[in-house]
Amino acid sequence: MYEFAVAPAVTGIRRRGVEIAEVSPESLGFELELEPGDRILKVNGRSVRDYLDFRFQTAGETELVLDVRKTTGEDWELQIERGEGEDFGLSFEQIVPRQCANECIFCFCNGNPADARPSLFIKDEDVRLSFLYGNYTTLTSITEQEMRRIVEQRLSPQYVSVHATDLDVRAYLLGIDKKRADIAPKLTRLLDAGIEIHAQVVLCPGINDGAILRKTIADLAAEYPRVTSVAIVPLGLTRYNTDPRLTAVTPDFCRKTIAEISAIQADLRKRLGTTFAFLGDEIYLRGGRAVPARSHYGDYPQIEDGIGMVRSFNNEFSALLKSLERRPLAQPAKLRGTVLTGTLFAPVFKTLIDKINLRFGTWLTVEGVENNYFGGDVSVAGLLTGSDLVSARNQISGDFVIIPKSTLKSDEEIMLDGMKLEELTAKLGLLVYPLDLKSFAQFLFWNN
Ligand code: SF4
Repeated sequence: MYEFAVAPAVTGIRRRGVEIAEVSPESLGFELELEPGDRILKVNGRSVRDYLDFRFQTAGETELVLDVRKTTGEDWELQIERGEGEDFGLSFEQIVPRQCANECIFCFCNGNPADARPSLFIKDEDVRLSFLYGNYTTLTSITEQEMRRIVEQRLSPQYVSVHATDLDVRAYLLGIDKKRADIAPKLTRLLDAGIEIHAQVVLCPGINDGAILRKTIADLAAEYPRVTSVAIVPLGLTRYNTDPRLTAVTPDFCRKTIAEISAIQADLRKRLGTTFAFLGDEIYLRGGRAVPARSHYGDYPQIEDGIGMVRSFNNEFSALLKSLERRPLAQPAKLRGTVLTGTLFAPVFKTLIDKINLRFGTWLTVEGVENNYFGGDVSVAGLLTGSDLVSARNQISGDFVIIPKSTLKSDEEIMLDGMKLEELTAKLGLLVYPLDLKSFAQFLFWNN
């Protein structure tokens, strides 16, 4: 059993080793009398800094020596022989992310209301989290030790925010000097060591679009297949991010970008056999254009960055419709409720839900909810807050409300503005179901 997560805050002090959070009953760790709170300091004489070190240093080893500091302060040396593949049954403390030292002009932290959840102000820049969760890093302040660790422990792929290969533009966007902004040698070193890179561009109108973007795509495509893909996502401005250097992304800008990049994508597909440079779903939705077909996205290399999510959702929804054909709902009229989502996705979702209503007799409505908490051009479902959903009370009809599961923290039923699900339920005076597509399908059948 291995588990890891991101710590909600950065603490200054780092203790030696990695702390055990849980020990499974009857596991090897249990037999060794390891307990929550114990710290593993070394494996076979090598220091352990975190969970990843422990996993790397124990992998494939059947004879091990663990240096452990017990919660009592005692130091134990454990000589272990374990069967091949035998698990320790340990889970560990969260990884404390390293923070970035950039001053990006578009940094999302500058766009948060002052009272937003503390975790929204974490400027993480951590190659471990890049490997584990696909978090982007800029590589600007990566240390030699971290570079070596990526290579030695094969922390591949890495997700790198490139933004522009033009050095002046990159330095300007990151708010740092050119020396620090220059990641070309670091990228080459990682690529030469066989580390796979996925790149990202946050597209800022008038800064890294046009010729700069074309150059960025061409430079990165020259490294294909070592650089596997580039995600081009639009700048998002909240009402708090009023930096005069930034220009909002408009529907017109999106349409222009789609036209320009479509031609480049066609050429890349011909030459490389992959679209390689993908535009974020938001660009198609804001531009009022249909998202590309399934084949455009290959194996969805950057779906977590909002690339192909809508296509994938549409296709999964079609599969749901097919399963409803095979197993029709017995009492569809009982399903009378409202689906609340962000204004960006609402029109797409409405078309899909209308199909269900029409074919199966349910009474579901879809309502787009304005994001007043962040304001600006924030319109995605995942950034809706409790106060936004409460303000949409008069848009709700029926007996229940469905909200996007992504509005809640992954490990707690709390929204970005700190409102808990139970509070939202009380304020709306209706049953509230936080669902994703899979649980939506289950919901339809359960409540029938
Ligand atoms: S690298 Fe990320 S967290 Fe750091 S300043 Fe830039 S946008 Fe903000």
